[in-house]
Amino acid sequence: MSITPQPGIMEIALYQGGQSRLEGHDEVLKLSSNENPYGPSPRAQDALRAAAAGLHLYPSTDHAQLRAAIAEVHDLDAERIICGVGSDEVLQFLAQCYAGPGDEVIHTEHGFAMYPILARAAGATPVMVRERDRVVDVDAILEACTPRTRLIYLTNPGNPTGTMIPVEAVARLADAIPDHVILVLDGAYVEFTEDYDGGARLVEARGNVVMTRTFSKIHGLGGLRIGWGYGPREIIDVLNRVRQPFNLSNAQLTAAEAAIRDTGFTEMCRAETARLRVWMRDKLLGLGLACDESHANYVLVRFKDESEAIACDAMLREEGIIVRRVGGYGFPEGLRITVGDEAGCRRVVGCIARFRGQA
Ligand code: PMP
Repeated sequence: MSITPQPGIMEIALYQGGQSRLEGHDEVLKLSSNENPYGPSPRAQDALRAAAAGLHLYPSTDHAQLRAAIAEVHDLDAERIICGVGSDEVLQFLAQCYAGPGDEVIHTEHGFAMYPILARAAGATPVMVRERDRVVDVDAILEACTPRTRLIYLTNPGNPTGTMIPVEAVARLADAIPDHVILVLDGAYVEFTEDYDGGARLVEARGNVVMTRTFSKIHGLGGLRIGWGYGPREIIDVLNRVRQPFNLSNAQLTAAEAAIRDTGFTEMCRAETARLRVWMRDKLLGLGLACDESHANYVLVRFKDESEAIACDAMLREEGIIVRRVGGYGFPEGLRITVGDEAGCRRVVGCIARFRGQA
């Protein structure tokens, strides 16, 4: 066939999403995609219902109301916020605008699977940098920078590791990278950490850092697809040039605004997740399994080897529980488990205890 795609496209491996059904089970406990077990905020649900009557009208093109709400809640400059169809879209704008053929895009060993896809889709070359003991290695990233590097995608907290590098280490990276490189701080899970405005402070202080955030995790709106980015004014201006005018619907804008303003709900989700991830890790360590301290809404549990992880995964499935195998992220011996609500956490831990013969 003489119709061929652009160079690099056929090297893209298809993104493997989390499974949501299991044969033989009408109901499953889905702990594979880091979704919010408490659902969306009730206020977001009400706002969504109310938005139905206005669906004949086109949505806002500049997202001014949602940007103002985000700016108010997080004490940011609304002019420097861009909203997208999930943070995926903002991450995509960055690759589309700043990386092309001949350029390199750095991502780390256990980062998000979309980074190399976005780099290749832009015609650029993804460059994977190793981590050290499951934690991002700033010096290794600096060593990997070349005159062709244009972007560095950094997930903090990491996925699927849940580990985190402190804001000082990120600042050191931002200070040391060459002038032509943008550091992208992917903060999909940052609200689950102690100091979740650290990334924003870095953006304020530097001209080469962009932060991305999402409504899919702490705000429980993964099904609606809304994310945002915060960066230097000039970069946000560039990204807005490739954004479709109506990239977000009335439904997305309305629900997201209600969700971000429902700070009581956000705080409850944060506090419960922080409490339960410590509980889960303690139990898993008590079962003789390896598990780093997590700063996100999931834990990475590591078994003796891949066959044990596969066997445990199979038993969980038999019990109607879906977790994530993470061999594709460099952990064939691992399972990533979303921190669910208390009943969900007890159920999955109980099942793993039975698997280990300790229940
Ligand atoms: N970054 C990371 C590290 C993620 O895990 C995810 C979701 N899986 C995203 C970004 C994208 O999230 P969304 O597009 O739903 O905002």
